[in-house]
Amino acid sequence: MSHTIAVAIDGPAGAGKSTIAKKIAAKLNYIYVDTGAMYRAMALFLLRRNVHPEDTERISTLCEEADITIRYENGEQVVLLNGENVNALIRTEEVSNMASGSSANPKVREKLVKLQQALAGRENVVMDGRDIGTCVLPDAEVKVYLTAGVSVRARRRFDELTARGEKCSLPEIEADIRQRDHKDMTREISPLRQAEDAVLIDTSDMTIDEAVNAVIDLC
Ligand code: C5P
Repeated sequence: MSHTIAVAIDGPAGAGKSTIAKKIAAKLNYIYVDTGAMYRAMALFLLRRNVHPEDTERISTLCEEADITIRYENGEQVVLLNGENVNALIRTEEVSNMASGSSANPKVREKLVKLQQALAGRENVVMDGRDIGTCVLPDAEVKVYLTAGVSVRARRRFDELTARGEKCSLPEIEADIRQRDHKDMTREISPLRQAEDAVLIDTSDMTIDEAVNAVIDLC
């Protein structure tokens, strides 16, 4: 079997992971894997079933019924939930908040981590998430922990949502981000943290291209 190469990019919400990871993948000609989108698709599935984010038992049972797969269309990752393309439905604050609750569930993580590892076993990947360098791909060739100050991250999310025509409030987004960071960093299984061998990059005062070049230099 030929050996595949992996670049793991972890960090909190709004640090610029997906923008930067996508560009790096294009430069290296690797596949970009957005693992957050998988947790979001699962969250959408649970929201549609009216499950409470803390209802561990129901989430553990129901998540078996969610078939999540990804495919690529014109170089873009498309997430399929039981065969339905849900890309356009998973970027809302409601889904974000559900995802940060349901992603703490061990059954949900087990299922999605397997899928992520299988992908990385077949292709060279740039994979972003919260636990890629620590749990999913501990042997990744390059590991980056990408972060930025919380107000910078909230402002970026605000601009992104506003650009898409969604009405939102900056203070609410900042509060949501703080709460999600807290949940992601303090959960029992695979909490968000910098892997010992990951390089820390703070993008607060960096342009996208500067951050991309910093990671490419590591590669
Ligand atoms: O990265 P994104 O904001 O799309 O992720 C949504 C949520 O999914 C995160 O807040 C986190 O709770 C969860 N997630 C995770 N592990 C990953 C990727 C995302 O727990 N590898």
